[in-house]
Amino acid sequence: MKTETAPVRLADYRPPEFLIDTVHLTLNLHPDATRVSARLALRPNGEAADLVLVGDELTALSVSLDDLPLTAKQYEAGPDRLVVRNVPRRPFTLTIETEINPTANSKLMGLYRSSGTYCTQCEAEGFRRITYFLDRPDVLAVYTTHIEAPKASAPVLLSNGNLTASGDIKGTDRHFAVWHDPFPKPSYLFAMVAGDLGVIRDTFVTASGRNVALGIYCEHGKEARCGYAMEALKRAMRWDETAFGREYDLDVFNIVAVSDFNMGAMENKGLNVFNDKYVLADTETATDVDFGFIEGVIAHEYFHNWTGDRITCRDWFQLCLKEGLTVFRDQEFSSDMRSRPVKRISDVRTLQARQFPEDAGPLAHPVRPEVYAEINNFYTPTVYEKGAEVVRMLKTILGDAGFRAGMDLYFARHDGQAVTIEDFLACFHETTGTDLTQFMRWYRQAGTPQLAAEGAYDAAAKTYTLRLSQTTPPTPGQPVKEPLHIPVRFGLVGQNGADLQYERASGASVTGDVIHLTQPSQTIVFHGVSSRPVPSLLRGFSAPVRLTIDAPEADLRFLLRADTDPFNRWQAAQTLLMRALIDGTASARAGRAASIEPALVDALAEVAGNDGLEPAFRAQALLLPSEADVAREIGRDVDPDAIAAARNAIRAAIAGRIGPRLTEIADAMATRGRFSPDAASAGRRALANIALDLAAAGGDADAVARIVARYHAADNMTDRLAALSTLAAAARVERIAALEDFHARYRDDALVLDKWLALEATVPAAETLPRVRALIADTAFAAANPNRIRALVGSFAGGNQTQFNRADGAGFDFLADYVSDLDRRNPQTAARLLVNFRSWRALEPKRREKAERALRRIAQVSDLSSDTRDIVTRTLA
Ligand SMILES: [Zn+2]
Repeated sequence: MKTETAPVRLADYRPPEFLIDTVHLTLNLHPDATRVSARLALRPNGEAADLVLVGDELTALSVSLDDLPLTAKQYEAGPDRLVVRNVPRRPFTLTIETEINPTANSKLMGLYRSSGTYCTQCEAEGFRRITYFLDRPDVLAVYTTHIEAPKASAPVLLSNGNLTASGDIKGTDRHFAVWHDPFPKPSYLFAMVAGDLGVIRDTFVTASGRNVALGIYCEHGKEARCGYAMEALKRAMRWDETAFGREYDLDVFNIVAVSDFNMGAMENKGLNVFNDKYVLADTETATDVDFGFIEGVIAHEYFHNWTGDRITCRDWFQLCLKEGLTVFRDQEFSSDMRSRPVKRISDVRTLQARQFPEDAGPLAHPVRPEVYAEINNFYTPTVYEKGAEVVRMLKTILGDAGFRAGMDLYFARHDGQAVTIEDFLACFHETTGTDLTQFMRWYRQAGTPQLAAEGAYDAAAKTYTLRLSQTTPPTPGQPVKEPLHIPVRFGLVGQNGADLQYERASGASVTGDVIHLTQPSQTIVFHGVSSRPVPSLLRGFSAPVRLTIDAPEADLRFLLRADTDPFNRWQAAQTLLMRALIDGTASARAGRAASIEPALVDALAEVAGNDGLEPAFRAQALLLPSEADVAREIGRDVDPDAIAAARNAIRAAIAGRIGPRLTEIADAMATRGRFSPDAASAGRRALANIALDLAAAGGDADAVARIVARYHAADNMTDRLAALSTLAAAARVERIAALEDFHARYRDDALVLDKWLALEATVPAAETLPRVRALIADTAFAAANPNRIRALVGSFAGGNQTQFNRADGAGFDFLADYVSDLDRRNPQTAARLLVNFRSWRALEPKRREKAERALRRIAQVSDLSSDTRDIVTRTLA
């Protein structure tokens, strides 16, 4: 186990001393003694005399150079390094034999077993757990993989590329397969899977007429649940051809669903390995949200074929080059498949819930970090979600045609290369002539910029003056921030809801409906504005900033009813609700009741009942900011109990005023006939479920009875789970029987039971923590499975504000103990759980003290992994 890791710095990047042109890998699979033979065609790329390869928990059995065995004096092999002295100054081959134990690999990095299936996970640094290698993304090689395994237990043998040979090994019960991937790739994209798996097959004909054989592999008996993923894959393949001109390049594309996986999914060239949670779905077991995630994740990993695989990262600091860009691409895909405004709202909710707290806390880092101690800890919302926002801003600034031209050049110029953010931006600079020097700060500067807006209308002069100012708060290692190029999409909304025209604007560059804010502060004057406008700013959330605007409530209610930009209609509702929740929290702390303006409730009811709007959007408008959202907005001296009390009181007040209206809206959404996971049907279900949840918020007996009845009558998982979560999230006594019933129905389905574990963990009641402890102790709990851990412990720490942040500190102590223990087996998952402490400094003093004590206890554990050590150190810094 690595315990001490020197920080790695971007500034220290040096090209590799050697390159590897081809890799011939032979894997002789055995549950606890797998033989790996790696034959590497190497050539010098620098001046170094010694070849240094990295390993992780490896043992070298033999090493040969140009097929001559080396003696023990000619090389030095330890668990994490293989050094070959004085290698030739010409191309040479090195053959290394190692033996590894897949069954004992509980870290789920490298080669391991999941329910008996051999599988690999190599990103970021897992390949070095299979063989000694130049395990860095800028070493691109052509791989040929020879797999041998028993026919009976592993009839399916898969690797990257195309299958070139297969057959029985005579005189044994074993067989083999040889896969060849003609596209040079870094080791993190290597994959191998072997096991007894079911499969569904299909074909795809590319735009240029090539046939691609598609396969999705899963545990036997679950094949029928792969159909939706297959359809999503074909949609994604077609979409990338039209939206980005990208065609698939191999003869086969395989996906394997495994149940033990640290991440969501992995884009290995031609052989994507997935957490089964993002593949398996049917009406009985998956919610609409699951279907949407599956579509998005299948597309995301497929899109990596070009943004990640064909063009990869020079070093891990450039992770956002593939991730931010690919998240942007999958978001665009889902927007085209579903409702664009609703997708945008849900992506912004995710960004604000996950990335904003990171940016505001001790773990803040730039989209492209400049230093890391453990790269596993940089698969963050900042790299992914904020990284996607940065690409979206680039498109907003350059326009659709300019963006596409830059992307086309990027694909043409860098195919087959490992590149940097600078290389990426240079393509857009060259194709559009736009100077992106200032824009580059989005990649370098951490923290969420604050955008303040003030406006005034001069009726006599017919001018509207808008003052915009930006500041970015200091973050660790970056005390002083420079102004960013913030694209502010806007409209000046007139009385009739249409945008007012103006003659000209001065004080900032304005192109179309975008103000380009580039200075700390700019005053923009719009001339020839015929009447007082209501400004609609940051339409579509055109930049990942926190906008504060001193708008009167009446103006926000007007935008909620009338703005032509659906995102800002939603934003207006959120802003008004957030104000009420923050005021309510202050009241709750002062021992007074929280309240909400009846006019706001009526405006919400009007939007919710407006049949001219799509139901999925109306559902979003009714969804109050979460307790965590409110905590983030308050930002300091946070009392989670007061927030929960205020939110409950406000929801009850809404139910009291418009409960019957909400029930009517829900009834109108009922659909007859067969369940369909399409976006329109999903939207109707979402509106019905959110309306009924809100209607029951006051505890009205009829409304609660309706929820219980809906739980039992549901003919699909979306409605059943929604009803159950209404009961659980309000800690209603009716939840106990319903949760028991749910468990009994789905006891044999691990993925569905994850939903149950998550609900058990998020009940806002004092008995939840003991319940979580009991569930962990239960023999039925698969303690090594990351999905189970995330569902139970992750949901408790990340989704139960009042109980994780219990005033007695027991929630913190629980997580500290759990993480310290898990760290010994699966450091990556342990470190991710620990991230739930990221906002500890924002808590009120008593809780803060208890959180700090728990963190210090973890820091004192002597043999922490580098993953967990890194998070605890930065969280406490
Ligand atoms: Zn990705």
